Amino acid sequence: MLHKSTHGITLALILCLTTPLARSSTGAASREQQIALAAEALRPRLIEQRRDFHMHPELSNREERTSRIVAEKLRALGLDDVKTGVGKYGVVAILKGSKPGPVVAVRADMDALPIQETIDVPYKSKNPGVKHACGHDVHTTVQLGVAEVLSKMRDQIAGSIKFIFQPAEEGAPQGEQGGASLMIKEGALENPRPQAIFGLHTAGFEVGQIGFHSGPAMASSDRFTITIRGKKSHGAQPQLGVDAIVIAVECVTALQTIRSRRIDPLEPLVITIGRIKGGDRNNIIAEEVKMEGTMRTLNDSVRTQALELMRQTLANVTSAYGAKFELSVDDSNPVTYNDPQLVEQTLPTIRRVVGDANVVAQKPLMPAEDFSYYQKVIPGFFYFLGVGNKAKGLMPAWHTSDFDVDEESLVIGVKVMSNVLLDYLDRQGVRK
Ligand SMILES: [Zn+2]
Ligand SMILES: [Zn+2]
Repeated sequence: MLHKSTHGITLALILCLTTPLARSSTGAASREQQIALAAEALRPRLIEQRRDFHMHPELSNREERTSRIVAEKLRALGLDDVKTGVGKYGVVAILKGSKPGPVVAVRADMDALPIQETIDVPYKSKNPGVKHACGHDVHTTVQLGVAEVLSKMRDQIAGSIKFIFQPAEEGAPQGEQGGASLMIKEGALENPRPQAIFGLHTAGFEVGQIGFHSGPAMASSDRFTITIRGKKSHGAQPQLGVDAIVIAVECVTALQTIRSRRIDPLEPLVITIGRIKGGDRNNIIAEEVKMEGTMRTLNDSVRTQALELMRQTLANVTSAYGAKFELSVDDSNPVTYNDPQLVEQTLPTIRRVVGDANVVAQKPLMPAEDFSYYQKVIPGFFYFLGVGNKAKGLMPAWHTSDFDVDEESLVIGVKVMSNVLLDYLDRQGVRK
């Protein structure tokens, strides 16, 4: 990738010479140029790092290698107080600026998914059945890049930056704890407590663009399991049994009326049954049916209401036929709620770095993100980094076997996040 490196520096110089900021003589502009040049110079190493993570993906709560590389790198950069083992493989480190000021946090997730990669690239996953199909390799690489760039600019940092590298965003294996909630429980947001937190996620739109949403940006998610218990009998003598299959089918239909008839149509809600299993053979009335599903909302009170309505619906349908039910809910995430004031204050920075036309207001998304847990403690802003490139045939869709990114997004990610963090600290400092 050496040719890219020379290209990169040339491009950086051209950009500096042509952006209006280069002509301004303000301190902010020169700092932004310094970040741009440093990020451009990192391009080949960012690509190499992302490819290394991509080739060695690790499942949730198994990020041993990734977290070791992250910790080694942060120590080599001279970050203060590099803590490992926070929430299993989580890493937390502080970068203290030379000037006094508040603390801001930034978070990247590190885990991959149980998906067999189908793309044929030199950096193809070496771990069979495991793939970075959500771009967390990009997130980790960008955040290491931000740490590297800012570690050389301490004299221009008014406050401290807390770097959080998080495992198990995709959900801990059943029976294990993990992810953002466990890291918070184990003190990731204490000593010192940050005033705000930022994070980014890859998105399938064009590289160079940043997407955002103010307020609820991503859905809450609740994984649920429903067990319907009836009574076995001969398939030709249904009157002697309680048919769990017939009742389960009725429950599936009744649950859909929560969306269509019980909740405000202007409030987004999805209740999906994704798996159903029951019965023993063709001529036996089924005693038990198990169903698994997911519920998504953009409003925590709708979430509480819908869960209660699910319980009521199941209780009433099953009791009408003399069956019993159990409903268990786990692996839940609250709504990813971007603090509107923080978004409004941050957008000018993002617009300055990538250009007005490249900052795109988005509709909220129904997938969930456990970044939401940090936002329950402190205000946070989670935005989207474009990684697609139609001209190159790259239109990545999350959680698919051929997910891949335009690696130019790495440099852009580093530039945007570095500026977002430093500008935040400056603003807070001024306010004090
Ligand atoms: Zn994902
Ligand atoms: Zn993700």
